[in-house]
Amino acid sequence: MNTNDFRKHAYKLVDWIADYMEGVREYPVRSQVKPGEIAAQLTDSPPFQGEAFEQIFGDFKSIIMPGITHWQHPRFFAYFPANSTPESQLAEMLISALGVNGMLWETSPAATELEEKTMSWLGQMVGIPQDWSGVIQDTASSATFCAILTAREKATGWKTNSVGLYQQAPLKFYVTREAHSSIEKAMKMAGLGKEHIHFVATDNKRGMDVNALQLAINEDREQGFIPAGIIACIGATGIGAIDPLKAIGIIAQKEDIYLHVDAAWAGSAMILPEQQHHMQGIELADSYVFNPHKWMGIQFDCSAHFVRNKETLIRTLTILPEYLKSNEGVTDYRDWGIQLGRKMRALKVWFVLRGQGTAQIQQTIRNHIQWTNELANIIGATEGFEIVTQPRFALFSFRATPNANHTSSNEFNDLLIKAVNNEGYTYLTRTVIDGQSVIRWSIGHTNCTWKDVESSWENVKTIAKDL
Ligand SMILES: *Cc1c(COP(=O)(O)O)cnc(C)c1O
Repeated sequence: MNTNDFRKHAYKLVDWIADYMEGVREYPVRSQVKPGEIAAQLTDSPPFQGEAFEQIFGDFKSIIMPGITHWQHPRFFAYFPANSTPESQLAEMLISALGVNGMLWETSPAATELEEKTMSWLGQMVGIPQDWSGVIQDTASSATFCAILTAREKATGWKTNSVGLYQQAPLKFYVTREAHSSIEKAMKMAGLGKEHIHFVATDNKRGMDVNALQLAINEDREQGFIPAGIIACIGATGIGAIDPLKAIGIIAQKEDIYLHVDAAWAGSAMILPEQQHHMQGIELADSYVFNPHKWMGIQFDCSAHFVRNKETLIRTLTILPEYLKSNEGVTDYRDWGIQLGRKMRALKVWFVLRGQGTAQIQQTIRNHIQWTNELANIIGATEGFEIVTQPRFALFSFRATPNANHTSSNEFNDLLIKAVNNEGYTYLTRTVIDGQSVIRWSIGHTNCTWKDVESSWENVKTIAKDL
């Protein structure tokens, strides 16, 4: 493709994208295709001769689009959001054009220096101590994996990287049952074994019980294990549980155990002064991760990973001896994460933060939290429905009481979610709490309005009645 053709097609794509953004409410939120339906329309082998772009784009519209679940739909209330604002999309166009691999400072000084600066901005916005350092990872899973590796190295006197874990007493990591599955995955990948996760009991709001944490640590030490890490959650995935950071941090310091904080979703809400109290004790932690790609409008992927002492992270992950470093006194981000090559993600952070300003992002998130509370009040007061877990940030869970055609509550709620998602007006997902099927409702799309929330609730009520 020559640049003239590129120009022609790219202008058309921009129009198509703008139309999509304006018309996204017309699509069913969750894709309505059956398994295999998309694959059946694709050729089994690649073409030998190139095809016209019009042909490819035509197939994109007719074959691919029906298989898209619309994360940018304002009535997407499933999982957690993954917002892509116009500012972020414009940055992604430039990132894509430059095609930078920012593995070293030298491979694009602007990529590295912009990342340092924008991470400092994000840190100030969410209340990370000023002397911490930041890096953009692809996902929170990667950041948590890095944290667990760092904790492993610290607990084993920085020798596991060299000699492995042979003859090493098992290391223990402490989380609650609410913690994200990425922690179990990281334990497996780090060679530590998922059986060495010590699940700590929770209080009646499902936050970590710190007395139980202290007892668990004591017990493990007595049995010859090495307590190595604690992962505290601010806004866990299932129902948004919050662990008491400060009380956990005091134990972590006293016991000399690495403390990582997973605030992947709720971390964006820390830009609100009224939510800042959840950050109390952050100075006692070793690392913190949140995903601007969830709730801040900086599109996937963009995960903000902060560390109190960058030397421990670098010491864990560096791949070259000191004397082979290409430039003195600069940051080479290849030593801060799992992969060597890395995208220039900081540009989209810069565009969104400058384009919207803290004020606009605060307003968006504040609205979502307020609407979540209002909707939970409405549902709680509606006959035939009950709130199961109260709103945490912009998430709550509820369930419906079976109507006369049904007996099992779990079956009825599972049927209800299925019916709602098959209709496609809105999109909700489920979780299980104490053996009960419940429906999660998570408000988070940037363009969501109260009308979207209200009309979706009407939709759910009508479907429940007819079930
Ligand atoms: C979404 C989420 C994760 C995983 O995020 P990825 O960036 O997809 O790895 C981890 N922890 C919590 C609490 C989450 O909400």
